[in-house]
Amino acid sequence: MTDETVDVLVAGAGPVGLSLAIELGHRGIGCLVVERNDRVGYSPRAKTTNVRTREHLRRWGIADALRQASPIPPDYPPNVVFATRMNGPLLARFENAMHGRRERNELFSEEGQWVPQYTLEEVLRAHAVSLPSVRIEFGHALSGVEQDEGGVTAQVRHVQTGDSRTVRSRYLVGADGARSFVRDAIGARMQGDAPALKNYSIIFRAPDLAARQVHGEAIMYWLVNADVPALLGPMDRHGLWFFMATKLANDVDPASVDPVALIRRGTGLADLDIEVVRADPWVAHSLIADTYSKGRLFLAGDACHLHPPFGGFGMNMGIGDAVDLGWKLAAVIKGWGGPKLLPSYQQERRPVHERVINEAMINTRPSATSSSARRSRPPARRATAHGGRWAPPSSTPRAASSTPWASSWGIVIPIRPSWSPMARRHRPSTRSTTSRPRCRDAWRRISGSRMGPRSTTISGRGTRCWPPTGQGTTLTHLPPTPRHGGCR
Ligand SMILES: Cc1cc2nc3c(=O)[nH]c(=O)nc-3n(C[C@H](O)[C@H](O)[C@H](O)COP(=O)(O)OP(=O)(O)OC[C@H]3O[C@@H](n4cnc5c(N)ncnc54)[C@H](O)[C@@H]3O)c2cc1C
Repeated sequence: MTDETVDVLVAGAGPVGLSLAIELGHRGIGCLVVERNDRVGYSPRAKTTNVRTREHLRRWGIADALRQASPIPPDYPPNVVFATRMNGPLLARFENAMHGRRERNELFSEEGQWVPQYTLEEVLRAHAVSLPSVRIEFGHALSGVEQDEGGVTAQVRHVQTGDSRTVRSRYLVGADGARSFVRDAIGARMQGDAPALKNYSIIFRAPDLAARQVHGEAIMYWLVNADVPALLGPMDRHGLWFFMATKLANDVDPASVDPVALIRRGTGLADLDIEVVRADPWVAHSLIADTYSKGRLFLAGDACHLHPPFGGFGMNMGIGDAVDLGWKLAAVIKGWGGPKLLPSYQQERRPVHERVINEAMINTRPSATSSSARRSRPPARRATAHGGRWAPPSSTPRAASSTPWASSWGIVIPIRPSWSPMARRHRPSTRSTTSRPRCRDAWRRISGSRMGPRSTTISGRGTRCWPPTGQGTTLTHLPPTPRHGGCR
């Protein structure tokens, strides 16, 4: 027996599940998010909220809320420093990294922001529950899924009592992270042959660190040394920091590593006062699911792509998934999205993920060697740090200065419209003499929908077509030129 019915059931209230709920909620689609944890914000993972993500937040009306909520104020210099140690020689410095400086730029409407993931999640959560059609249930895990032609029947279990209930939905999205239950339910497999990279993250308090380092304020310091290659950066302005040792040798048990000694060694500040708040060993993967959907079940975020965190991609890519899938689900539920629209989700997002994963792998180079390079080095060149062996870096100032992510807009990599099957399918018709039928034809080809979008002409340069969402979904047609294709 079904206990309740909803348009979309989302598993997971991480940044991706919350963003999906917001995208659906803004379009008036009923959405229930079930989250097995009792609150958001358990993991102090992402810090880079990129330009593109912040543009989504702006559209949702919460870009200012995030700016104000951040424990790192907007005037903090968005610099990235490469140095051997916090008191050692400087290798390279990037100013205005990820376009985080608060300034007007005609290319985008919001600057990138350095903000802990737990702060972003809380801002997203607060906004999601303010939307009338969205509900979040913490302490509830998705524990069973079946689908039929008419919808999805899910089992939702109360984590504390163990009681289960049945939720019927038209669609179900697994935004349930790296060990996705929904991914298993649809039989998707993660693929990739890049080596898993062992890392060790430590959140710590060191009120003196800001005054004792010699490189000036920065959001991120890449400590490029043979002993303990690491990343370090502020979590607030009151002495809370993260330290990420980027290359734990495979045979080292993280429990045997003394985090205080490790930070002192990595920073070069041998007598720094340190209070460890949390220490997490974790493994960076480069994996992508072989399929993102089956029938009415979809995957988004870490559930279908895992990136090394160098470059700040994973969460931002996942939020991009949520936006893409969100408007398409809403279009189909409301009846103006045709049968080809939902399959375009994987077709559009997968090339982006593939390209970004490659980019993230390139970004691992300044901080650590590849496993094969590491294996080929003689043991004598490996330094012994407290309780563990640490792989030496291959970094040079040149490697650091060639790192492209620091100047990313946060669209991360320029995403060309020609990647999208939706854009590629549109061929401007030579028979159409007015813009309106051309747009309608394009929309029909793209979505399979019989309902045509509204259209208008912009300064004689092309045609902009609005599907009837009222939510700003825009198809833009520009005449082909040698510099850009026909559809953007
Ligand atoms: C050290 C580190 C630094 C990073 N830095 C960045 C960065 O700067 N920028 C960036 O973009 N990305 C970064 N990332 C990646 C980013 O943290 C992830 O990509 C992001 O958290 C993925 O979001 P998600 O919502 O897909 O998954 P998650 O954040 O993992 O959320 C999934 C949620 O689903 C819940 N869940 C799981 N199973 C169930 C179930 N059966 N029922 C109900 N709920 C369930 C989980 O409890 C969890 O809350 C970093 C990652 C690490 C490890």
